[in-house]
Amino acid sequence: MNKLSLILFPLMVSASILYSAKPMNIVFMFADDHAYQAISAYGSNRNQTPNIDRLAKEGMLFDRAFVTNSICAPSRAVILTGKHSHLNGQLTNGQRFDGEQQTFPKLLQKKGYQTAMVGKWHLKSDPTGFDFWQVLQGQGPYYNPPMNTPDGVKKITGYTTDVITDVTLDWLKNKRDPNKPFILMSQHKAPHRNWQPGPKYLTKYDGMDIPEPETLRDDYKNRLEPASTQAMTIDRHLSTSDLKIKAPSNLTPEQKEKWDAAYGPKNKALEDANLEGDALFKWKYQRYVKDYLRCIDAVDESVGRILDYLDQSGLAENTVVIYSSDQGWYLGEHGWYDKRWMYEESFRTPLLVRWPGVTKPGSKNTDLVQNLDYAQTFLDISGIKSPKDMQGKSIVPLLKGKKPKNWRKSLYYQYYEFPGGHSVRRHYGVRTETHKLIYFYMLDGWELYDLEKDPNELNSVYGQPEYAALTKELKDELNRLRKKYKVPVDDRPLTKVPRTPRKPKKEKKKS
Ligand code: CA
Repeated sequence: MNKLSLILFPLMVSASILYSAKPMNIVFMFADDHAYQAISAYGSNRNQTPNIDRLAKEGMLFDRAFVTNSICAPSRAVILTGKHSHLNGQLTNGQRFDGEQQTFPKLLQKKGYQTAMVGKWHLKSDPTGFDFWQVLQGQGPYYNPPMNTPDGVKKITGYTTDVITDVTLDWLKNKRDPNKPFILMSQHKAPHRNWQPGPKYLTKYDGMDIPEPETLRDDYKNRLEPASTQAMTIDRHLSTSDLKIKAPSNLTPEQKEKWDAAYGPKNKALEDANLEGDALFKWKYQRYVKDYLRCIDAVDESVGRILDYLDQSGLAENTVVIYSSDQGWYLGEHGWYDKRWMYEESFRTPLLVRWPGVTKPGSKNTDLVQNLDYAQTFLDISGIKSPKDMQGKSIVPLLKGKKPKNWRKSLYYQYYEFPGGHSVRRHYGVRTETHKLIYFYMLDGWELYDLEKDPNELNSVYGQPEYAALTKELKDELNRLRKKYKVPVDDRPLTKVPRTPRKPKKEKKKS
C-alpha cells in the first residue's frame, strides 16, 4: 500500500459506511395531556417515571419544548402538517381535520417508509398516509376500547393504555415488513380527563400525600380577568365523574369489583368525614392528582415495554425514539387542571429523544423548540428534504449538539377555542428566552411576564414604565412572527374556518 492509499483507505471506508447506513426507523410515543411536572427526568417531586427517564439517560431532554396552540386536536394537526393552526385549518377541537392535505407520514410513505398509527387519533376524519392504522373512536374510553381500522371496528377488552401497547408491539413483531424502514406512532389516550387508572395501579399512592404545587391557592391578582374567569379550578370545577364519586359504567364485572375495592370505601369515608373548606379542597387535589399519576404509571410501563422490545429485537440501535405529549397540563398550578393557556405549564410540553450514536446520552437542551418542528425533524431523520411550506425547523442539528447560529429566539402562540370548554379567552403572544407578552385580543388586553423574576407568572408587568422599551420590542417581534407565519389579522367565527389564510389586511396599531 502506498502512502496515498494509506491516507485514502480509512476515508473510503468511513464514506462507504455512511452511504450504506440503513435509514433510521422512528418510534414516536405520544401521550395526551402529559405534564412535564409528572416526569421524574423533568424533576417531578410527585412521581417516578423510570422508563421515560431511560430516554433522558440515553438521549436528550428538551427543557424548552412548547406547542403552538395548547389543545388536543389542533396540536396533533400541527405535528402532522408542520404548519400553524390557521394554515392547517384545525383551530379547535370542534373541527374535522382535512386529511387531504400534505402531512409528514405521506411524505415518508412516498420515500419507501412503512407508516403505522396506533391509539388516539382524535381528528374526526380517518387517518391518511398510513399503511397500518388502528385508532380509538374520538376520545376513546379508558376501558375496553372499540378501535377503528380500515376494515371496520374492532372491539377489544382491556385497559386502553395496555391495549394500545399490545397493538403497537404486535405491529412491530408481526405485521411490518422487516426489509423496510418504518415510522410507528403509538399514541395514548392517557392521562386525559377523567383520569381512570388501570386495575394494576388503582391503589398506588394510597396512604400518602402528594406534594402541592406552590401556586395551588392562586388568587389571580395582578393579571387581567381571564385568569380568574376560566372554568378549570380543582376547587370549583371538578365533576363527580372526575372525582369518581361514582364508578364508571363501562367496566367488566371483574374490573368493577376492583374499582369498588379501590374507591367504594373512600366514597363512603368522604360522606362520613363531611369535609368542607380547605380540607375538601385538599381532598380534591389529592384525589385528582393521584388518579392522574396512576394513569401515568401505565403510560410509563408502556414506554418500558416498547423500549425493551426494541432492545431484544436488535432494532434499538437503528431506531430513533421520541416521547412527547400534545401539550402540557396543570397539576394544580394556579389551582387548575386542564391546559389551553400560554402560561408555562400548558404551553410547554415534554420532549425526549434517543438517537443512538447521535444524541449524547444524558444531555439536556434549552433552546426554544416547538411541536411545529416535529414534522421537519422526522423528515430530516429520514434524509428527506422538507417542503418549503412547512413552518418549523428540524431539530436534528440540536440532537447532534450543534445549535445553528440562526436558531429562533422567540415563539409564536395562538389559542382560539372561546366560547368553549373551560372558558379560556382567545389569546396570542410571543415568548422569548426571558419574557412573555400575551394579547387577549377579544378584550384588547395585554399581559407581560418577566420569566426570570417571576417564573410562576403571578404578576403581569405590562404598562410598568421600566418595561416600556422591552414591550415595544416584543410587540415588534410579535408582528414580525405574525407576518412570517402568515397569520390572518382576524380569526373567523369558529363555525366557518377558512381552509386557506385570508389576505392580511393592514393591521391596526394597538398599544
Ligand atoms: Ca391533550
